[in-house]
Amino acid sequence: MNTKKISLLLTSIVMATAALAQGDPKLTELYTPVPKVVTAGKVTSDAPSDAIILFDGKNLDEWVSTEDTSKAAAWTVGKNILTVKKGTGNIQTKKLFTNYQLHLEWRIPSNITGEGQARGNSGVFLASTGKGDAGYEMQILDCYNNKTYTNGQTASIYKQSVPLANACKKPGEWQTYDVIWTAPTFNEDGTVKSTAKVTALHNGVLVQNNFELKGETAYIGAPQYKKIGPSAVKLQAHGDKSEPISFRNIWIREL
Ligand code: MG
Repeated sequence: MNTKKISLLLTSIVMATAALAQGDPKLTELYTPVPKVVTAGKVTSDAPSDAIILFDGKNLDEWVSTEDTSKAAAWTVGKNILTVKKGTGNIQTKKLFTNYQLHLEWRIPSNITGEGQARGNSGVFLASTGKGDAGYEMQILDCYNNKTYTNGQTASIYKQSVPLANACKKPGEWQTYDVIWTAPTFNEDGTVKSTAKVTALHNGVLVQNNFELKGETAYIGAPQYKKIGPSAVKLQAHGDKSEPISFRNIWIREL
C-alpha cells in the first residue's frame, strides 16, 4: 500500500470514528431488502359502536399540544379534515391508552415535493413517552415512487421494523392505518417484563405482524425502553419543508 492509500484509509477511519462519536443517524439505516410494492384495494373504515372517536372532522377537542399538554392542539381543522401546522409541534390525545386497536386515515397532498425522508413525513406514535418525538413511531411518509431507507419508509416501525409490503397510494389519495398495539409491561425496578408488540395494516395490507419492539424508536443509536404507564397517541409535525399532510376519521378501541 502506498502512502496515498494509507493516508486515504486513515482519513476514512478517522471519519467513521467521528461519525460514531457524534451519533451518526446513518448507522441505523437499512437499504435492503426493499419491500415489494402492493397495489391496495378500496378501504373503508366507519367507526364501530364501541370506538372512542378521536377526530371526526369537527374539532380537536380530544387533542392537546405535546410540548404543553395544558394547551389546545394548534393544527388546522377545515373541510372535515385535520392538517398538520408545521412549527406548532406534535399533538397528542388527551386520553391515555394501554392496549388498543387504532384506525386513522391520512393523505399526502397531491402537490407534494421533496425526497427521501423530506417528502410528507409525519408519523403516529403508538405511545408517546414525552415531548418531541419520544415514544414508539410508526412512520408516515410518501413512499409512492420515493426511495428512502427501508426501516424508515411508510409503515415501518421507525428504524426497527421494515414493513412487509409497500402499499402506498398516490399522493392526493386517502390511505388507512389499522394498528393493534400491545403496550410494554415493566417490573417494579423498571426492567422490561414484556415487550411492546404491533400488528398493522396499511390500506388493508398487512405491514407489521406481531413485531416485538426493541424499545422506543430512535433517530440516532439503539432503541431503549423506559418504564411507562398508559400513554397518549401522538401525531408528528415533522420539520421537513414539504407540504403538510392531512388526517381524517381517527378512532380507537381499547382492548
Ligand atoms: Mg416521521
